[in-house]
Amino acid sequence: MKKWIQPFRLFIQACFTAGLFLPWIHPETISGYLFWTVLAVGVFFCGWVCPFGTVQEWIGWIAKKCKLPRFKMPWKIQKYLQFSRYTFFALMFLGISFSFLNARFYFQDNLVHNMLSWTSGITLAIFLIISLFFDRPFCNYFCMKGAADGLMSIIRPISIKRDNQICVHCQLCDKACPMNVLVENTTFVRHPNCINCMKCLSICPKNCIKFNLMNFHLKKEKK
Ligand code: SF4
Ligand code: SF4
Ligand code: SF4
Repeated sequence: MKKWIQPFRLFIQACFTAGLFLPWIHPETISGYLFWTVLAVGVFFCGWVCPFGTVQEWIGWIAKKCKLPRFKMPWKIQKYLQFSRYTFFALMFLGISFSFLNARFYFQDNLVHNMLSWTSGITLAIFLIISLFFDRPFCNYFCMKGAADGLMSIIRPISIKRDNQICVHCQLCDKACPMNVLVENTTFVRHPNCINCMKCLSICPKNCIKFNLMNFHLKKEKK
């Protein structure tokens, strides 16, 4: 287990959340810097920078500390629902906009600059309340930026890799993943939902998850 990674990530997330008030490390500026890196190493912005992703994570953490019930989306629903944010993204190109659901914008722009309307406030509150019970609901099912970056990341040659020779199939990695990626039955994670949060890597008791270059001879394995 690499226990230092999550406290380190928490520190980085806190810095970029403070960056909402500092133009030179504002998350949108960082998003621009990271744009092309997505093609090579996947989506670090969502796991390490985005303040709205961070806030959803912190609310989940508070809920755990308060011993509120936390849920994982059952796979029989998740296997369809995982496409929802990509569907919203595709519909945008057909002129069907769901921008009224853009809680990330409401948080990062309206709330921070004290310009929240009733409707945007209610939308934002709904996602934050759901975050008490489910991991990153907005990221998982609604975020169009997350969808766009995720789609760009599927060709990445560097990502999460699991060594099946050492894996004991405890599924702790699956339970830890806030984006509902099934790590335990995958050798090389190139799922567009992966946000490089490294929670799977941090929790693995056998240290069989690494972040490195794909071995093109390894194929996806079935359970
Ligand atoms: S999916 Fe959207 S809201 Fe979530 S961390 Fe990524 S950009 Fe932020
Ligand atoms: S946490 Fe590690 S040992 Fe457990 S299933 Fe995942 S990769 Fe295998
Ligand atoms: S697969 Fe691992 S790195 Fe990717 S989102 Fe899930 S826990 Fe985070």
